Amino acid sequence: MNYISTRNKKLNYNFENIFLRGLAPDGGLFLPKNIRKYSKQELKDLSKLSYIEMGANLLSNFCGSKLDINKITSLMGKAYSNFDTKEVVKIKKIGNINLLELYHGPTLAFKDIAMQVIGLMYNELGLDQKKINIIVATSGDTGAAAISALKDKKNINIFVLHPHEKISSVQRKLMTTCDAKNVFNLAVKGNFDDCQKTVKQMFNDEKFREKINMSGVNSINWARIICQIVYYFYTYFKISSDLNFSVPTGNFGDIYAGFIAKKMGLPIDKLIIATNENDILYRTLESGEYRPLKVKTSLSPSMDIQVASNFERLLFDIMDENDEKVKLSMEKLSKDGFFKLENNELNKFKENFIAEKISDAETLRIIKDFFINYGFILDPHTATAVGASYKVRNQSKNVVLGTAHPYKFLETIKLAIGKNMETPKQLLNLSDKVETFEIIDNKLEDIKNYIMDKIK
Ligand SMILES: *Cc1c(COP(=O)(O)O)cnc(C)c1O
Repeated sequence: MNYISTRNKKLNYNFENIFLRGLAPDGGLFLPKNIRKYSKQELKDLSKLSYIEMGANLLSNFCGSKLDINKITSLMGKAYSNFDTKEVVKIKKIGNINLLELYHGPTLAFKDIAMQVIGLMYNELGLDQKKINIIVATSGDTGAAAISALKDKKNINIFVLHPHEKISSVQRKLMTTCDAKNVFNLAVKGNFDDCQKTVKQMFNDEKFREKINMSGVNSINWARIICQIVYYFYTYFKISSDLNFSVPTGNFGDIYAGFIAKKMGLPIDKLIIATNENDILYRTLESGEYRPLKVKTSLSPSMDIQVASNFERLLFDIMDENDEKVKLSMEKLSKDGFFKLENNELNKFKENFIAEKISDAETLRIIKDFFINYGFILDPHTATAVGASYKVRNQSKNVVLGTAHPYKFLETIKLAIGKNMETPKQLLNLSDKVETFEIIDNKLEDIKNYIMDKIK
């Protein structure tokens, strides 16, 4: 499989290259040159497989010769062996909501589903080379999932940048209580967009990138996206009818995986973008103008993002794969702070997506009502997607993606339902452990120096 950049269609990289690099040299995002479309019969055959068999079949369309279908099957088997459910995810019917629980991995958020596989891919694709330094920005859940997947791996260091005091205490502790020698936590005095920007700047600094042999596992890494395609297929086949998916959205990675599933032939109707007050995608879909505003702190911190990086991949699609136009739009964004979609582009966006915005007050009310009505506790991110689903007609055809276990946001749950929750077994002992992290200014040079110092 050959890969191009959203800003340069002539680029020709293989899976191994793009896996290790993360971001294209021109600042664009990698995309496969072709996406296989499954026929009706092929979909039918696929529907009979287990989660892991289905996943290996789907992923094998994107990975190179070093990762054939057998290899991927064994990687996935190993990756998901520490999940608390054999089929990786759980589908529940609660009231008239179809809930897809994606948080049965070691760090209790959907990020584990991709990250546990990626951790093992590094063994196959990277570790015969020199030491790799992985730099990752997190809005709270990616960091923990990455640390869980990569801690104690030989020949890998991992540096995690999280926004200081802007994530929940359970999210922070899951990262900072890991005492592996190859894990470094940085609390950056800024927000997630600042952290992500810093990581992108480091990727685009060729000299620095080469010097530290840098790699990345943020959701701009294509490998993350392909692992997330699987549960759209799996769920569709289990419920088996005309479906919408309602997805709590931040960096536009998870929902974009649904879009790729659709391109591969899965007959999804609409993808519902659920946002909190950081509503850039909602505004873009309303007006065609993509304009990041200041990040607001909300009760769903993993979605406190204004620069939804993966949107650039969708842009490539709705701009009819015009790489030059994507490049100009992204340049305009960094120069003028916005760009505007043309009408036909906006219409293509609306063909596949609906967007709904849920305030903190609504989020609290949804968690409370859901608990009173069904005795079930939603995490605040999942609650936004439930709220978005309520706002879209024909609810029974919506699947809501449950992206995190509510315990990770204990303070908010207490606020909503007025009581404590039982600690899940993965998190027992967490509060007694010592935390290690470095608080650092939001300055590129300081962060680079810190990294250089640690890897000397
Ligand atoms: C990361 C995250 C999201 C947002 O996913 P994106 O792929 O960034 O859109 C939503 N909910 C939770 C709990 C998350 O950790």
